[in-house]
Amino acid sequence: MGEVRVRFAPSPTGFLHIGGLRTALYNYLFAKKNKGKFILRIEDTDRSRFVEGAIENLIDALEWSGIGHDEGVFVEDGNIIEKGEHGPYIQSNRLDLYRKYVDTLIENDKAYYCFCSKERLDNLREEQRIKGQVPKYDGFCRGLSKEEVKRRIEAGEEYVIRLKLPRNQDITFDDAVRGKVTINTDEMDDQVLVKSDGFPTYHLAVVVDDHLMGITHVVRGEEWLPSTPKHVYLYQAFGWEAPKFVHLPTVLNKNRKKLSKREGDVSVEDFRSKGYLPEALINYLALVGWSPEDGEEILSLDEMVEKFSFDRVGKSGGIFDIEKLNWVNAHYIKEYPLEKIAELTEPAMIESGLMTKDEIAKDWNKYKYLVETVLDSLDTVNELPEKVSFLFGDLKVEEADAIEQLKGENTEKLITSLEKELVQVEEVDEEFAKTVMKRVQKDTGVKGKNLYMPVRAALTGNVHGPELSNIMIILGKNELLRRLEQARQEIIK
Ligand code: GLU
Repeated sequence: MGEVRVRFAPSPTGFLHIGGLRTALYNYLFAKKNKGKFILRIEDTDRSRFVEGAIENLIDALEWSGIGHDEGVFVEDGNIIEKGEHGPYIQSNRLDLYRKYVDTLIENDKAYYCFCSKERLDNLREEQRIKGQVPKYDGFCRGLSKEEVKRRIEAGEEYVIRLKLPRNQDITFDDAVRGKVTINTDEMDDQVLVKSDGFPTYHLAVVVDDHLMGITHVVRGEEWLPSTPKHVYLYQAFGWEAPKFVHLPTVLNKNRKKLSKREGDVSVEDFRSKGYLPEALINYLALVGWSPEDGEEILSLDEMVEKFSFDRVGKSGGIFDIEKLNWVNAHYIKEYPLEKIAELTEPAMIESGLMTKDEIAKDWNKYKYLVETVLDSLDTVNELPEKVSFLFGDLKVEEADAIEQLKGENTEKLITSLEKELVQVEEVDEEFAKTVMKRVQKDTGVKGKNLYMPVRAALTGNVHGPELSNIMIILGKNELLRRLEQARQEIIK
């Protein structure tokens, strides 16, 4: 086998769907595994779907994810540029090429001009619907003479160019995931290759481009599987060798429906802004539809490259499970350098109003300590405010368990004892925070759970939470004393 060349070929519709990111990822993994090239091509021939800035967004999302491409379209210094010898890599810049190739098809009687009006096609479709037939072009213009075509074009009639499928011929190809696929041309439509606006359809452009760009493996979502026989026939019609096809199972929601924007987060940007880490999203997405032989679930990009193969891509759709993603994300949060996680939590923290940018910057180490204190409980970096809010403002005792603890027989005694300790020190340092509870124990004779639970409830309003010594350091002497007093009020209430 020569050099492996694969491509990700999104349409710039405004955002990158996570299903698309997974397609890009599998292309990337396969390319790296085989020391091949991963190409980014932009498929923008559907002008009605074009969105300003979409190419930049797309590349930004890919870059954030860490899946770098080798060739194709890039953004440098805010400008869209292209790298590689098979360009242009943006389809709207390749219109002449498509025209040239479709002309060879017409010459060889593999494609034809079709002048059918919209009304005729609508009527035809309606007739077929009534008869319970699959809608399909009836070949009305297949037999037009060269002269008639010429005359009508010169007269300025609108036309499309259609593929001229041979009658009753089996089209067969091997799909790396689906196995052998066969379909008869009688069940297929004379696909439009060039639209009336002169733009190629996806089907023509994808075949011309994949061939000219030397693509060896077409790796894409299974929604394109029904189109593949047309592509295979086009390769034959051009006299080209077809690439290998790999159709990936769709990313589904829990109800086994396609993940759609209507139901919530589907774009890479959504997950990014919700506080997911790129390593986690990529790691998790890899597992939606693929699993390594050893069953390992936490994998770096390099490990995935090493273990990746299409043999282990499932046929049925992969279910996107947000809880599992959270679990993977929580894992990476703990693995990341604390400095970086702290930085990533900042926007959500500022947005929550708990701390200002200046307050965070003023004592960065203290902020990091705050983050570190609740690190184990974070599924996403954006959860920081909700996990630390109990450390800000007044003591809030809402949970029944905490109220019960505060009303316990030893609580008053414990509060008094801790207050006595606090007033003796200048400030609460680590040494104090780590040893004070031993002294309170000695002083009150209360031990274990009976000692810790009421104190925790008095300081935090909860019965569970991070290390008590961390909490003491974060709150500091004055705030601790203030809260103990508030807790005493709660007991009386
Ligand atoms: N432009 C198509 C899409 O956005 C690409 C399909 C393909 O990879 O052939 O899904």
